[in-house]
Order: sequence, then structure tokens, then C-alpha cells
Amino acid sequence: MADFKVTELAENLDFEGLAYWDVVIIGAGPAGLAASLTTAHRGLTTLVIEAKDQPGGQPQFLYADKKIVDIPGFPDGISGEELSARTYRQAVDALVQFRFNEELVTIEDTEQQEKEDLLKRVVTKNGEYLCRKVIIACGLLHFPRRLPVLDALQSKSVFYKVPKIGDYTGRQVVVIGGGDSAFDAAVMALERHGKVDVVVREATPVAKSDSVERVRESGGKVHCSTEVTEAKYQDGEIALQLSDDSQLQADYVIVQVGFLSAKETFQRLDVRLNDDGSLAVDPYFETSRRGIFAVGDVHGDIKLITVAWAEGIQAAIYAFKEITSPYWLNEKRLRDQKIAMIGDKITQAARGKPLR
Ligand SMILES: Cc1cc2nc3c(=O)[nH]c(=O)nc-3n(C[C@H](O)[C@H](O)[C@H](O)COP(=O)(O)OP(=O)(O)OC[C@H]3O[C@@H](n4cnc5c(N)ncnc54)[C@H](O)[C@@H]3O)c2cc1C
Repeated sequence: MADFKVTELAENLDFEGLAYWDVVIIGAGPAGLAASLTTAHRGLTTLVIEAKDQPGGQPQFLYADKKIVDIPGFPDGISGEELSARTYRQAVDALVQFRFNEELVTIEDTEQQEKEDLLKRVVTKNGEYLCRKVIIACGLLHFPRRLPVLDALQSKSVFYKVPKIGDYTGRQVVVIGGGDSAFDAAVMALERHGKVDVVVREATPVAKSDSVERVRESGGKVHCSTEVTEAKYQDGEIALQLSDDSQLQADYVIVQVGFLSAKETFQRLDVRLNDDGSLAVDPYFETSRRGIFAVGDVHGDIKLITVAWAEGIQAAIYAFKEITSPYWLNEKRLRDQKIAMIGDKITQAARGKPLR
């Protein structure tokens, strides 16, 4: 029996010559990659715009080396880097097209009609792309929050993401931050035989208590209610002065003190936002602007790779249905019509008119 072949796009399709794309996806993280291979597998021309120079999103940029243990089907875990590389390869094989180092600026409406859609114009810092549907999958965490006191050192031993170092034996590692990312980094360094100090500004770390316990049990020291006030080089190491008057020496400093949010980008898009500044979506992952979907961390309460995948896939399938089904068969439109009809009937009843 022949292998099942999902890709319907022709290998020799002239993507550069397309008048418009069926789908443009913003962000090549887990949500964007999953959405992209789903639309491309269904024969939709798909372009992914990614601000960074590589695909993968947070698993690639923030914890490439961490063993992720909660992905079904990987009982021994998988690194962020490998997971990203595998998903990217699958998207490339499905003929998804990528533009790296390209950041979304805004999404404009046009008057150009294609079947039931008015085309959208996706404007990036480098160009413009016409398309029928847009899927926003750019995550909430754009760039790590920086600590100027450490930036001033201009040191290659200060990291804003978990560094790719196989073995920390005998190395002094200072992790700054009190959240899950900081304690994940501390556990990772301890497992690789580093000596770890965690500097937490708050009186109690906000990270999961089992991670905090794990750090303490593995010999890590947690310094609460203190922060770094000064940093300098001393005898080939980084010397950190803390606000409680103590000092720490470090071979490596890992800073994990949160992220600058994507709110600024969202505000430019003129879509409805939730109270916390994330994107509001309906049950079909569509934003308040028709034809613009949002998936993954950009809106969700549950921030996990598998959830980002699932949402990306669902939005991709809704986009596919809208592009390929006639209006009168479209699930969402039918539901909207039904709700409108019920609404009319309730209004008529309230006005004392007989129900038809
Ligand atoms: C330290 C840490 C550890 C974690 N560990 C786990 C774990 O073990 N298991 C798990 O399931 N989840 C884990 N998570 C959560 C998981 O990584 C996220 O839920 C997931 O990455 C969300 O995927 P996403 O595609 O929505 O967003 P992201 O992964 O953030 O990807 C968004 C992509 O969009 C790009 N982008 C942003 N803005 C623009 C723009 N304007 N234009 C173009 N591109 C843009 C970004 O560069 C990025 O590549 C962890 C998170 C952190 C921070």
C-alpha cells in the first residue's frame, strides 16, 4: 500500500510569484509551527514570519538544553532544541515558507476581494504580504527583561537564557530571579554539577515549591529579600555585591527576571484585548477582527507546548474550512446565524409579537 501523502502543494509551486498567500502566520514557535504544517498539509499556501533568526520560539531560545518531560510520546524527555528542530523540519517538508529576521508591524484591511474574504495586508519591518487569513502565534514573552547593572559588564558569562553548557563541574553559578524559569535554570546547573546560588528579590520565591525544594536539597543556596547592587570583575570571576551586604563570586550569571510583554504589538493590531493585555479570542480562536486568529501563549491561560500545538492546529483547521467551504456550510457562520435568529425571537417575544 502506498504511503499516505498529506502534502497537496506542488513541489515546484512558484511561491515568490503568488498574488496572495492563503495563510500568513506570525511567529515560528510551537503554536505557529503546528499551525503552519497543518495548513500546508491541507494544500494552503502558508508563510511564517519570524522576528528571530531561527525557528522554535521559547523552547529554542529560552531552554534549548532543558529536557522537556511533559510531551506525550517522549517518555525519556526531549530537549527544547531537538523538539524545535523536528517540528521545523516537518513544516519545511510540508512546503511551509519562512521569512526570518522579520517582525510584524501591523495588519491592514484591504478592499481586494478573494472569494468570501477581503484580503489582509500583513506589514512587517521588511515588507508586506497579502493573504486571506492571519494566525497570530507570536507568544507573550518577547524579550527577556535585562539588568543594567550586569549589562554594564559586557560579559560573555552573563546569560539571559539558559546557556548551552554541558558540564558545570566546579563552576560557581549565580541565578538571578525567583520564578519558575530561574529555578528551572538552577536545577539544570545543579544537575550538571555546578555550585548554585539563587538571588531572589522577594521574601519568598514565586516558583513552584517543589522546584525550590529541589534546589535546596541538591545543595543550592537561595538568598531571599536581596538583589544585585553592583557587579565587577575580580580575579577572573564576576563579583556581585548584594543589597544585604553579602558578596557572591560567579563563573556564570544566569538572569531570569521576566520578559517585556508583547502588548505594544497587540495594541497596533486594533483587536479586542483581555484585561491582562493578552488577545481575546472566540471558541474558534478568531480575534475580534474577522479572519485574524490568535493561538498559543498570546491568549491562553495554560502556557504549555502541547496546548500551543493544539490551538495552532485547531485555528489552522478553522481557517482551512473558511477558505474551502461555501459560506452556507461554514460551521462558525451557521452558529452565528443561529444565535442571531434566537436573539431575534427573544426580541420579538419581549415586544409581544407572536413567535414564528
Ligand atoms: C523557562 C521556561 C520553561 C518552560 N518549560 C516548559 C515545559 O517543560 N513544557 C511545556 O509544555 N512548556 C514549557 N514552557 C512554556 C512553553 O515554552 C510555551 O507555552 C510555548 O513556547 C508557547 O508557544 P507559542 O508558539 O505560543 O509562543 P513562543 O514559544 O513564545 O513563540 C513565539 C514566536 O513568535 C516570535 N515573535 C514574537 N513577536 C514577533 C513579531 N512581532 N513578529 C514576528 N515574530 C514574532 C518569537 O520570536 C517566537 O519565536 C516553558 C516556558 C519557559 C519560559
